[in-house]
Amino acid sequence: MERKNVLIADADLQRQRDFETKIKAIHESRSAAPKAMVDTFGCQQNVADSQHIMGMLEAMGCTFTDRAEDADIIVLNTCAIRDHAEKRVFGNLGALTHTKKANPEQIICLCGCMAQRPEVAEKVRKSYRHVDLVFGPQALWKFPQLLYQVYTRRGRVFSIDDEHGQVAEGLPVVREGNIRAWVSIMYGCNNFCSYCIVPYVRGRERSREPEKILAEVRELAEAGYKEITLLGQNVNSYGKDLDRDYDFADLLAAIDEIEGDYLIRFMSSQPKDATYKLFDTMARCKHVAKQLHLPVQSGCDRVLRAMNRPYDRAKYLELITYARKVMPELVLTSDVIIGFPGETEEEAMETVDLVKEVRFDALFTFIFSPRPGTPAAKMDDPVPRSEKQVWFDRLCDAQNEISAQLHAAYVGKTLRCLVDGETDDSRWPLSARTAGGRLVHLVGDKSAIGTYHDVTITDSNTWALFGEMN
Ligand code: SF4
Repeated sequence: MERKNVLIADADLQRQRDFETKIKAIHESRSAAPKAMVDTFGCQQNVADSQHIMGMLEAMGCTFTDRAEDADIIVLNTCAIRDHAEKRVFGNLGALTHTKKANPEQIICLCGCMAQRPEVAEKVRKSYRHVDLVFGPQALWKFPQLLYQVYTRRGRVFSIDDEHGQVAEGLPVVREGNIRAWVSIMYGCNNFCSYCIVPYVRGRERSREPEKILAEVRELAEAGYKEITLLGQNVNSYGKDLDRDYDFADLLAAIDEIEGDYLIRFMSSQPKDATYKLFDTMARCKHVAKQLHLPVQSGCDRVLRAMNRPYDRAKYLELITYARKVMPELVLTSDVIIGFPGETEEEAMETVDLVKEVRFDALFTFIFSPRPGTPAAKMDDPVPRSEKQVWFDRLCDAQNEISAQLHAAYVGKTLRCLVDGETDDSRWPLSARTAGGRLVHLVGDKSAIGTYHDVTITDSNTWALFGEMN
């Protein structure tokens, strides 16, 4: 798609604002302001999308509730990354038949990655007739228009065209609190890893204009946000579709010029697009957290090829060796899939071996979950789940041992941490995050929430650190 067609025209965006106004008028003609419930499943990108859905609902005159029985409008923003996530959503949809029976005017919407899957939309069309609106991630910016159709046509609306995807600027947003903010810098993915459903439900890669991102980050920094996370399915390929030579490292360097007491994080990264330039820029930028989430997925080259991950074990090790050289304090995390179709025990143990060699600070571990519509779902998969579980447990044992050792090394150190909330544990009433993103259970005064503080680490376990504010 030509760049000029990727950006949605201001006139089309304004039409959506007009639909919000029309719906607000409908709502105002009723006795009470409508309540909306937005339920989010899955990744940070979905959290960011839900904040825009809430922004649009707020512009329609809605207030918010987390009780389905009290809601006039319910939006389930779904995830398709694993079978388990989809089963949960169908369970929730089933439960909503009761709230709809109690309030026939209730409007139920299904959106997000799961809704974009044609077979899911068909199942909802046939078997979940209480669902009024189904739309995919690429249609999110048109939510006001789609909801207006539901109101005026008094019929069900489905919007799940398989489209390239565009970029909508200036959507209303309701952020959670004033400490952390999510800023999408790009959407979609062109990588087609053989197990992944994302490219089929989130469209092709498309970057926002750098100036728009810089303006949003500047606004957040001036508003006092302490942590800003840049989001994309693969942030490392940011800028490839721009009409100029401008990549992710250039964006980070430009953001770093913005004054303020804030930290920048980013996710997710694909090793194939990770560069020395990026690591040098991270090392040089004072606002960029020395934290990197770099999913390796497997330690076996044959399995990486079968996953369509265009790097090998040696390349991955070369990348993180350089990253650790220029950022010795780097906190490194990753994702690993065990039990990929055709993987042998020996190959799975190559992944365990890589984990022992790299010594990640933390690891997100998964047993392969076939996603209908992906190449991997059609591959021979002879190994029983019970055997994969044994490999998975060995992987987790190895990583837990490493995490415990790396956490123990923090004891006695003083770290600058962002105090971000209260806990219900009277011994450790506060929670915080180190610059590297490690969780700290904290003793201190809750007036510190939302600020950076020096914290002395007094204890640790596999999952977290413990400390007291200085
Ligand atoms: S890079 Fe990530 S989002 Fe893209 S296809 Fe691969 S796993 Fe999926």
